[in-house]
Amino acid sequence: MADSLIFQPVAGLSALLDTRRISSVELVQAFAARTTAIDGRVKAFNSRDEAGALALAAASDARRAAGQARGPLDGIPVGFKDVIAVEGQPLTCSSKILANFISPYDATVTAKLKAAGAIPWGRLNMDEFAMGSSTENSAFGPTANPWDLTRVPGGSSGGAAAAVAAGETPLALGSDTGGSIRQPAAFCGIVGLKPTYGLVSRYGLAAFASSLDQIGTFAHTVEDVSLLLGAIAGHDEHDSTSFQAEIPDYRAELPKRKGPWRLGVPREFFGAGLDPEIGAAVQKAIAFYRRTGCEIKEVSLPLSAEYAIAVYYLIATAEASSNLARYDGIRYGHRSTAAADAIDIYAKSRAEGFGEEVKRRIILGTHVLSSGYYDAYYLRAQKVRTLIRGEFLRVFQDCDALLSPTTPTAAFKLGEKSADPLAMYLSDIYTIGVNLAGLPGLSLPCGFTSGGLPIGLQVIGQPFREADLLAVARAYEQAHDWHTQHPVLS
Ligand code: GLN
Repeated sequence: MADSLIFQPVAGLSALLDTRRISSVELVQAFAARTTAIDGRVKAFNSRDEAGALALAAASDARRAAGQARGPLDGIPVGFKDVIAVEGQPLTCSSKILANFISPYDATVTAKLKAAGAIPWGRLNMDEFAMGSSTENSAFGPTANPWDLTRVPGGSSGGAAAAVAAGETPLALGSDTGGSIRQPAAFCGIVGLKPTYGLVSRYGLAAFASSLDQIGTFAHTVEDVSLLLGAIAGHDEHDSTSFQAEIPDYRAELPKRKGPWRLGVPREFFGAGLDPEIGAAVQKAIAFYRRTGCEIKEVSLPLSAEYAIAVYYLIATAEASSNLARYDGIRYGHRSTAAADAIDIYAKSRAEGFGEEVKRRIILGTHVLSSGYYDAYYLRAQKVRTLIRGEFLRVFQDCDALLSPTTPTAAFKLGEKSADPLAMYLSDIYTIGVNLAGLPGLSLPCGFTSGGLPIGLQVIGQPFREADLLAVARAYEQAHDWHTQHPVLS
């Protein structure tokens, strides 16, 4: 299939649909053919529903022919990280414990996308229950980075990022608890947005760490990410943490917000551990903003730099141990056939169903919440979390957005960090504070290493000011062509 179609931003695809130069059926066929040709090597998908997608595409074509198209997403395929519910499709969380589970209902984001005419066409690989940074913790095997098949795509939404980067789907939804959208977007050379906590409903997102989890978007361009965000954002009575906010038309706002902006650069995010090639690419991006009239201010986030990872691994594991208690072998999911009684069913089903990293976190989280340790670990972590949020909000008193690298290194080799959980945890050092503070953050391509691997620029915004965050990112994107470069996988 012509690259011009599979790598085309959605804005272009929907123009082709509107002018009848292609049909939605042809579009789905194009992405399906691409996926059939390359996914044996990339392994981004856990499962696909081609027949269902074609039926929805035919319905979309009929709407368009009748002059009833529902807008720019009508007839466009969207991939779903395998942690977001789509009625009648598998929902595995890349775990053996849910290997045969079919979702009986739609997540709120799914219902909204269906109402917009978008086509949920496949389930994308991830680290089991979104715990990881490389997609190697999947019960179904790892996904490869389309830029270099010997490297990881990042994680935990690695399948989603790889599928968009490789031209297998124009859009994807992921989830970000500590960096799981931004880090894989950076590793795969695409745009990934984690919205403000509360902007997008979590109803129908299998919970990992509920106070940190947020559904977000992957696409080739900032405009496409804006379009997809506009379709999924908004209050939902099914999610008690969903915020009552006015939802602007993010895409229409883009050209209206021109800057110049006051941009903060956190000093601590450029220290030891940052790969010099990444540092140089991000400095060049900062220089671009300065050149175009933005005020660049050095700022300091000492608490986030020093404590965010530790605080995150206390809070996230505590919440995970509680959330994952529901997988007991009784209500749904895998049930051990070797069990003698009820207690044995719980123990054996969980022992057989969960992978190593998930077990490690359940054990740590249970310990953190146990009486005697709760105050010393969990409560203390919550207090430091509040301080970290305060630190960000203070910096935002005189900055519109912050700029930093998304990751300390480019994509690492498959297997390189899988034996060392602590080394793996460090790959989220620049992204995790954003989740603790509940802020929106975006990664967009800002160059390549000498070895040809994508580099990500992180832009961090003020709570619920996604429209500004997206405009800041787009100003850079419009002046560069990194997003037009795609991996060669023939
Ligand atoms: N890599 C982090 C973790 O392993 C973040 C994961 C995520 O954002 N879901 O927990």
